[in-house]
Amino acid sequence: MFRLKLRDELGIIKRNGLYRFLRKKDRNILDFSSNDYLCLSKHPEVIEAVKEGLKYGLGSTGSRLTSGNINHEILEERLADFKETERALVYPTGYSTNVGVISSLCKKGDLILSDRLNHASIIDGCRLSRADVEVYEHCNIESLVDILEKKGRRYNNIFIVTDGVFSMDGDIAPLRDIKKVAEEYNGVVIVDDAHGTGVLGGGRGTLKHFNIKPSDNIIQIGTLSKAFGGLGGFVCGIEEVVEYLINTSRSFIYSTALPPPVVSGVLRSLELIEEGYLTKMLQENIRSTNRIFKRYNLIKEDNLTPIYPIILGKRTMEISEYLIKNGIFAPGIRYPSVPKGLERIRVSINVEHREEDFERLCNLLNKFGQTNNSIST
Ligand code: PMP
Repeated sequence: MFRLKLRDELGIIKRNGLYRFLRKKDRNILDFSSNDYLCLSKHPEVIEAVKEGLKYGLGSTGSRLTSGNINHEILEERLADFKETERALVYPTGYSTNVGVISSLCKKGDLILSDRLNHASIIDGCRLSRADVEVYEHCNIESLVDILEKKGRRYNNIFIVTDGVFSMDGDIAPLRDIKKVAEEYNGVVIVDDAHGTGVLGGGRGTLKHFNIKPSDNIIQIGTLSKAFGGLGGFVCGIEEVVEYLINTSRSFIYSTALPPPVVSGVLRSLELIEEGYLTKMLQENIRSTNRIFKRYNLIKEDNLTPIYPIILGKRTMEISEYLIKNGIFAPGIRYPSVPKGLERIRVSINVEHREEDFERLCNLLNKFGQTNNSIST
């Protein structure tokens, strides 16, 4: 009976053209799908560090509060220095960081203001919290202030939550303005900088990009799975925030700590990011991509991040398949990951891409006759 019910529901998903399936990437394919922006996941020094970390064993064997606290605190100290905050705390993934931080800090009687295009893990964190949640229009300060004017005075605490760099559009949150609004309403800003860390501000992230000094009322979240090339998530902020999370954040307390070899590996990634040259190389590649994509009318304005949404609408999956057949992996992204009508190929570039790779991609897309960042659907 249950099997049949699920089959029915899967049938509906299929009929709506939204069926997802797992695909294994051909190792030799030209890859525009990965979040490994600095190619650290395979960096020889990172691999060496992982091997070194194996001396602690494969797994951490328990939660951080039981047997699992091994080499994690060294990483946390270094992350806090890197983000110029008092403390940092590492979680098993970026997803569990957002869920664990938001659901722990935001409570009944509080108001969360969340950008319409925030990542799913932020949305889930908001849902798990007992706070009221209001969604403001994407990167729209007027919409944010409007909600605050109408409702903001009734709550104990106000939290404004936003991606630093938006994962599906590659655009950057207007953090200076958001910080100013937060100050006016005595609120706290939570920035998920999963895609900004290692990429913007010389690698230090979106706050640095805007020259915003970390303060008591800003909490930064990051992931170790993208520019760091590993796995894990982290939160940076004041001492009291981190101590509070250690005591109350369920996805921190009740989940096994990161494997020690991963911690050793991402620690080496952090050192390499701090040297700065990889982020510089990535920024150079972003400039090359801008130049080439503009020539092919794929973008109108320069990107500052390695995420390029090529909006294709209904033909997205067809074109993505066509690219795969021609040796290029650039995943199609559909509803509900992006709004209906804005289905897209998400091209993400990294430090190892060459100009000829961008030309190859553009030549193939060109066969579909795109103009101005939208291929006729
Ligand atoms: N936040 C954002 C903006 C993301 O794009 C992602 C990953 N897709 C996450 C959080 C979750 O990070 P992780 O993959 O480390 O769980």
